[in-house]
Amino acid sequence: MMEFEYIFEDVVVTERNAPRYFLNGEEVDIWSEEYVKYHSRSIIEYIREKLLEYERAGIDPFSEIVGKKAEKEMVKTALMSGSNILFKGKKGYGKTTFSKSIAKLLPEKLLAIKGCKIHDDPTRPVCFSCKRKILEEDKVELTWVPRKWIRIAGDPMMTTRQLIGGISLQKIKEGYDLDHPEVFTPGRILKAHRGIAYFDELGSIPSALQTLLHELLEERQITTPEGDIIPMKIDTLVIASTNPANYRGVSDIKEPLLDRMEEIEIGPPETLEEEIEIGLRNMNLKTGAIIPEWHLKILATTVRCMRSKNCRYATRIEVEPSCRATIKLFDHVRAVATRRGHKSVMLIDYGENFEIVKLGLRSRISLDYEDEVSKDEVIENVTNDAIDRVCSEIYSAIPQNSFRDIIDDIARIGKINTLEDGLVGCRALKKFALSLCKTKDEFNSALEITLEAISRCTGIVEKVSPGVYEYAGFDR
Ligand SMILES: [Zn+2]
Repeated sequence: MMEFEYIFEDVVVTERNAPRYFLNGEEVDIWSEEYVKYHSRSIIEYIREKLLEYERAGIDPFSEIVGKKAEKEMVKTALMSGSNILFKGKKGYGKTTFSKSIAKLLPEKLLAIKGCKIHDDPTRPVCFSCKRKILEEDKVELTWVPRKWIRIAGDPMMTTRQLIGGISLQKIKEGYDLDHPEVFTPGRILKAHRGIAYFDELGSIPSALQTLLHELLEERQITTPEGDIIPMKIDTLVIASTNPANYRGVSDIKEPLLDRMEEIEIGPPETLEEEIEIGLRNMNLKTGAIIPEWHLKILATTVRCMRSKNCRYATRIEVEPSCRATIKLFDHVRAVATRRGHKSVMLIDYGENFEIVKLGLRSRISLDYEDEVSKDEVIENVTNDAIDRVCSEIYSAIPQNSFRDIIDDIARIGKINTLEDGLVGCRALKKFALSLCKTKDEFNSALEITLEAISRCTGIVEKVSPGVYEYAGFDR
């Protein structure tokens, strides 16, 4: 019966009544300066301390996240108050990134009791086996465990065993060892002990399990399938996400759980510049052809237009493209340009009918009535609108006093292949194209967009084949 007593007891030891601790075979004083920061503190205490440190130094603790100033403030306040957080928003706007960024507030490593399935704290163990060790043994082996961020995917088929785990007092009574898997096998949430539990789509977890989860977080206890109530004071910060688009058809988050969290909305990037920054930071293809600013703008504008109420297909687009679309579009155009040996991305790299843009967008949007207008048609037209917009910016950047010279240059050459170098004597045209460039490697792309802009805005120039423009005269 002795074994049972500490199962229900809160075991906390201090420097005075603790066993001797060993790390890598050597006895250590865990209260010495070297180790004291890595135990006996709660997750939220670590987070508060780190947040204040950042605050004093004037550093943004979530520098991975582009923009989102107001959201960051709310997250900081919620964390300081020791609250769990529910990120609400459509997919692809950085809910997961945000939760990982919060995890970075935790120490990179913590001291834990060696062999513990949930990495118990050396001075306040939660599992039976460690409670027994701390109370009964005079030598306890420790180990380092890295910072924990445990993702728990909201699965409607999730079982109690997967989420909470298997715990049985019955098996202890039958004489099983406390370490036996039949006695204690932690589920995902217990594995997040002393770390962050990230629930991806919390609302998709069966409601019976949400009740168990609430019991664990609020009452800090577990009811076993055999009906025993066991204290389980795990220490974890819950960050959850929910997609409002999933509300229909999927079970909601239950009231008592919602009451334990602060809801923070995470929407799309507010500005075009932020959209581009997120795209560039998260690209898979880190090197290769340059993507000049005008192409970053065209692609990001295409994506943003599909989210906007002002888009001509606004009523048709049911699922809007997330930042992942922007990221993938940047990757795809760079991939094509690099394969073709272009120093920088050109319009011709989009494909004759924007096949490359379609590649990045088709799977990321969905339409209401696809029989009336096809996805390809929507993508083509919206991309064209974005090119129009960027081209008119470029056209208006042409200085008045050099416009005539530029047209004269084009007229003299007659036909310009933007992929070829040359342009003998075309000083005005070259000068303007160069003024758009950050480096000379962007020249061909700048020349192409200049001619495309003049073509779209005036008709003085005509595109005769991909990348090739011809003087058409003023009479048009
Ligand atoms: Zn343990």
